[in-house]
Amino acid sequence: MELYKENQLKIYNSLSKSKEVFQPVSEGRVGMYVCGPTVYSNVHLGNVRTFMSFDMVFRYLLHLGYKVRYVRNITDAGHLENDADEGEDRIAKKARLEQIEPMEVVQRYTVDFHNVTKKYNFLPPSIEPTATGHIVEQIEMIKEIMEKGLAYEVNGSVYFDVIEYNKNNHYGILSGRNIEDAIHNTRVLDGQSEKKNPQDFALWKKADERHIMRWPSPWSDGFPGWHLECSVMSSKYLGEQFDIHGGGMDLKFPHHECEIAQSHTCSGVQPVNYWMHANMLLLNGQKMAKSTGNYVLPDEILTGNNKVLPKAFSAGVVRFFNMQAHYRSILDFSGEALLASEKGYHRLMEAIDYLEDIIPNKESTFDVADWKQKCYDAMNDDFNTPILIAHLFEAVKFINLIKDDKATVSSGDLELLNSTINAFVFDVLGLTNDAKEQNSDKLDGVVELLIKLRKEARNNKDWALSDQIRDELLAQGIQLKDGREGTTYSVN
Ligand code: AMP
Ligand code: ZN
Repeated sequence: MELYKENQLKIYNSLSKSKEVFQPVSEGRVGMYVCGPTVYSNVHLGNVRTFMSFDMVFRYLLHLGYKVRYVRNITDAGHLENDADEGEDRIAKKARLEQIEPMEVVQRYTVDFHNVTKKYNFLPPSIEPTATGHIVEQIEMIKEIMEKGLAYEVNGSVYFDVIEYNKNNHYGILSGRNIEDAIHNTRVLDGQSEKKNPQDFALWKKADERHIMRWPSPWSDGFPGWHLECSVMSSKYLGEQFDIHGGGMDLKFPHHECEIAQSHTCSGVQPVNYWMHANMLLLNGQKMAKSTGNYVLPDEILTGNNKVLPKAFSAGVVRFFNMQAHYRSILDFSGEALLASEKGYHRLMEAIDYLEDIIPNKESTFDVADWKQKCYDAMNDDFNTPILIAHLFEAVKFINLIKDDKATVSSGDLELLNSTINAFVFDVLGLTNDAKEQNSDKLDGVVELLIKLRKEARNNKDWALSDQIRDELLAQGIQLKDGREGTTYSVN
C-alpha cells in the first residue's frame, strides 16, 4: 500500500494562512509548480535554500508514493530590474553590459544553476520549461485577458487592469494587501504614466530601440511581463487548477498575486490549492541578495573562498544546515553555524556507518516502531525537518548506546531502524554520506597509483614487484583485472 494512504500530510497554505490536510486533485498524483531562477547571474545560497526546500517537499511526496509532476521553470525573459515594471530586462541588461547575446547569458547561468543542483544533490524536476519557449502561449493568454475586458493597450504595451479585476475579485487574496494600500505604497516612477493605475502590471512591454530581446505580437515588437510566464506554464503542464505552487516568500507579492489574477481571469477558478512559501536566508542580518552584494555562492562553500567562511564545507553540510531549520522560518547563515552543523552531520553519518556493524540481540531497549511513527508525524506536520532531525538524533543516541554495550536491538527492529533512517536521511532529506564518498574517491586514487607502479615494474621486467603488488592487493580484497583497455579493479 502506498504510504500516502496511511499518512495524513498537512501543509501550511499561505492562501488560508493555516495548516490544511493535503488532498490532491487526483488521488495518488500531485502537480507542483515552483518558480525557478532568473538566469542572469549565478544563483546564490539564498536561492539554493528555497529550491532545496522544495526539493525536500518533492522528495517527501515521492517517498509517500505519490506520482509527482514537478514543474520548475527557467525565467529567461521578462524579469525587469524592479517589480514596478520599470527598468531593463535583467537578462538583456547583462547581455548589453557584457556585449554578448542574451541567449549566451541564459545558457551560461542555466548551466551554472544545473551544476549547482547536481553538486547539492537536487532531484531534477519533471519538466523545466522556459519563458522564451512559451511566447506564443503568453500572447494567447494576453488576448484572452483582453477579451475579458481586464487588460488594455497603451503605446504597444499591455497592462492588467487591477482596479477592474478587483471589482468582482479580490486582488490581494494571497498577500493580504488591499488595493488602497497598494496605491499608497507604490512609488510613482518615470514612464508609469502610461498605466491607468500605478498598481496595474505589465502583460506585454513594447521594446524600445535598445532592447535586444523582442518578439512580434499584435501590439508591438516586445516581450512578455514576468508574471505571465508562470500562469501560462503552470496551466499548460498542470491544468487550470493544480495542487501545489511554491516559491520564496518575497515572490508572494506582487509575483504570485499577479499570477492568481491572470489565471483566475482566464479560467474562473482558483488556480492553486496549496500555496507554499519558503522563508529567506539571511547573511549579516540582511536577506541574501545579489543586488546588495550580501551573498555567498554555492561554489564558494565548496572551496572556502569567501571571507565569511572559516574553511571549505561539503554540500551535505549545507543541506543539513538548511534542513535543521523549518522551511517557513528565517535562517541566519554564518561560518560558525556551518561548523556546528558539520559536527552534527558527522555524528549522524558515523552512527549510520556503524549500523552495518551492529549484531542484533533478542530484545530491543528502544521502541523503534514508535520512533519511526514520530519521524513520519514530524514530516506530516508541514514538512517539519528540524523535528525530524531531532528524532534522528534520538536514534543516533540509541546506536551509540549499542556501541557502548549499554543498549540492545532485536533483528526485526534493527532492520526497521536501518530502513527508516536511510529513507529519511538519504531519500527525504537528500543528504549524502560525503565522508564515505570521499573515502571511495581516495581508494580510487591509491589503487590507480598502484596500477601505475605495477605497469612501470612490468615495463622494467620486474615481475617479482608486479606480482607482489597484485597479490598483496588481492589479500586486501582488491582484485586487479588486466584488459585491452588497461587495468581495472574490483573490491570484494
Ligand atoms: P530569482 O532568481 O531572483 O527569481 O529567485 C529565485 C528564488 O530564490 C525565488 O523563489 C526567490 O524567492 C528565492 N530567493 C531569493 N533570495 C532569497 C534568500 N535570501 N533566501 C531564500 N530564498 C531566496
Ligand atoms: Zn513564477
